[in-house]
Amino acid sequence: MIFDTIRSSTGRSISFELFPPKDEKQQHILEETIAAIAPLGPDFMSVTDRDGGTMRKKTAEVCRHVIEKAGVPAVAHLTGLGTDKNEMRDILDHFHESGIRAIMALRGDFLPGREIVGAGAFAHATDLIEAIRADGRFLIGCAAYPDGHPEAPSREADWEVLKDKFRAGADFAVTQIFFDNRSYSDLVDAVMGAFPAARILPGILPLTNWKTQKRFIDKCQASVPASLAGRLNLLEENPVTCRRIGIEYSIRQCEDLLETHQAPGIHIYSLNRSTAAAELVTVLRLNGRL
Ligand code: FAD
Repeated sequence: MIFDTIRSSTGRSISFELFPPKDEKQQHILEETIAAIAPLGPDFMSVTDRDGGTMRKKTAEVCRHVIEKAGVPAVAHLTGLGTDKNEMRDILDHFHESGIRAIMALRGDFLPGREIVGAGAFAHATDLIEAIRADGRFLIGCAAYPDGHPEAPSREADWEVLKDKFRAGADFAVTQIFFDNRSYSDLVDAVMGAFPAARILPGILPLTNWKTQKRFIDKCQASVPASLAGRLNLLEENPVTCRRIGIEYSIRQCEDLLETHQAPGIHIYSLNRSTAAAELVTVLRLNGRL
């Protein structure tokens, strides 16, 4: 299980990210997805904190479902901007009562009209990590950005922040999506010098639908190799071919991460769908990479 794996820093993990549903239809899809990916034996499923913390109860509810119905450990995401320091104890108590034993500590994004950090909120992820570490009941994950965080002056400056997150008490990191493995490798090299045991899980978005995913990829400022983007742009009106090329790329990317770059596992952004995630894991297992 990942919690032991993280502590021992050995073994390759597989994990999936889910987001809390907004309505009954999404809830149904999510439950089907959890049921479909649980038999793959993931080390954990993580559940995002949506819309500035307003969906937090739902995050805990989905985590409880993952733990109790699927028998898989869950990692709850928590965003500092949406968290009042005075409510911290109650939030952590609620997470713990829900069976959650690991938290992904994030700053969160500024919502339109809420660009100023409230006096009670956590301005940086490191502040939140320190508070969770002081509580002492949870393993702590944090975000890493192979292409740098969009607000950072440079990717190298942002990687210094990642070191601060480990210094503050993070146990592991999960990366933002990226498509050039050299960026992951550069980031790992930069951090491992100071933290040789740092466990940095590459976050992989299976490329299933270029036409809709490219907007999201742009927003994350993740760079896509020109040869891949060029081919997918040319074929974007042909979704079947686009998907085939995209998934083949994702598989090759994961194989290279695991074999050449010694990644400690793969974290899949499932987008609450099981087909591509299961395809990826199955092929990696068949090819002996996981
Ligand atoms: P921080 O580490 O605080 O960094 C934010 C920016 O501030 C960076 O540019 C950093 O370089 C800079 N910075 C940090 N500390 C300092 C400092 N002391 N001085 C100066 N500059 C500093 N968002 C959600 O809303 N919900 C989620 O569930 C969620 N899950 C995510 C999961 C992963 C794996 C990742 C990679 C991102 C996720 N996000 C989520 C998005 C994330 O909240 C945003 O990217 C956010 O803008 C930054 O969060 P952070 O934790 O990296 O913040």
